[in-house]
Amino acid sequence: MDISVIGAGYVGLTTGISFAEFGNKVKFIDIDENKINKIKHGIAPIYEEGLQELIKKNFDRINATTNYENLDSIVFICVGTPSLPTGLINLQYVKQAVENVAKNLDDGLIIIKSTVFPGTTEKILLPIVRKYSDKISIAMNPEFLREGMALHDFMNPDRIIIGVIDERGEKILKKLYTPIKAPIMVTNPTTAEMIKYASNSFLATKISFANEIGNLAKILGIDVYDVMKGVSMDHRISPYFLNAGAGFGGSCFPKDLRAIASGAKKLGYDMKLINAVLEINDEQPLRLIKLLEKYMSIEGKEIAVLGLAFKANTDDIRESRSIPVIKELIKKGANVRAYDPMAMENMKKIFDIKYCNSVEEALMNADACIIMTDWKEFEDIDFRNMKNKIVIEGRKILKNREGIIYEGICW
Ligand code: NAD
Repeated sequence: MDISVIGAGYVGLTTGISFAEFGNKVKFIDIDENKINKIKHGIAPIYEEGLQELIKKNFDRINATTNYENLDSIVFICVGTPSLPTGLINLQYVKQAVENVAKNLDDGLIIIKSTVFPGTTEKILLPIVRKYSDKISIAMNPEFLREGMALHDFMNPDRIIIGVIDERGEKILKKLYTPIKAPIMVTNPTTAEMIKYASNSFLATKISFANEIGNLAKILGIDVYDVMKGVSMDHRISPYFLNAGAGFGGSCFPKDLRAIASGAKKLGYDMKLINAVLEINDEQPLRLIKLLEKYMSIEGKEIAVLGLAFKANTDDIRESRSIPVIKELIKKGANVRAYDPMAMENMKKIFDIKYCNSVEEALMNADACIIMTDWKEFEDIDFRNMKNKIVIEGRKILKNREGIIYEGICW
């Protein structure tokens, strides 16, 4: 089949290249010329494990353009839905993309993959489509991939949710997903949208729950990882998303939880649990600063921050917990030097601090070190060349803690 993918970001690239790998022809359309040029030259514009290889392998089946003309009749909308200051999502990119598609397509299926508030596809986007065509159908197909594992997750999902308004949408989507062995749930677009928000809300709640238990465990001198190991042996709970630490970041959880809570508030409903999950998450990174202040006043000190990406195996820094930590360190007068194997270029757009080429360079004569991302290369750090060997761990990653003054956030 021939597919157009609007928005060549983490979701669009993963979706498009996976469908190309299944034998379809895929056209990427993005307003970012830089991204399009890279794809045209066979270069992955973002880092995702395996993406570069798949772009090379399927180069003959992919195309990239900034032009909405000559669309294929199956179009995935994968543009961003960032937060507004109100917490609601900014729908303008999705609306623009849908309108551009509707203007340039006579008949076909538009599939919304961007995460949008329940009701958006049917109540806001379908009417935009209907201004231009009575024939185009619309569907909502939420994406559950995790960055860093995006291709693996796309090709091996636990389930595929398709929210459709007619049989044609259901038939096309089922056919597209045939190579993937996973249960398919067919529902309406509004329910599909809610399934996405409910899933992310539940996973984020597990993390804030683990952090809340972890904060108390820390006071009691207990390692929360031992606690959660015991807790998660109960099959009703499961071990996933119970890793306590500096909190959740990334482009989805914080934004999606703010969106559902703000959307609910607008409808007159106060989501107490979701708001508490967000509150715990906002406070969590600042606990690292408090732990550091047990040992030193921060002003004028050389502090190494190891790990800038919101989690390991990605270059994405959106809502990374290292951002509030660095902000607070700077506010308190520290000289921050940072290192991350993938995410430094992105962080340079936010902070004018010293960026180091290696862990060793960041630690050389440093007064303290805060570990923010569980990159594998941080497992065996040699802290010998630090001035004061004070190490604060926001993600549990170190194998050896001997010879250092050490505090884990929840352990
Ligand atoms: P992204 O910012 O990486 O990519 C979005 C792309 O859309 C950008 O390249 C941007 O230039 C492009 N774009 C914006 N407006 C456009 C337009 N009018 N026409 C063409 N291109 C346009 O975003 P992402 O992380 O891929 O997320 C996309 C959506 O998927 C969001 O709604 C997000 O919530 C959702 N989602 C993301 C993830 C994730 O892990 N990143 C997982 C599941 C769902």
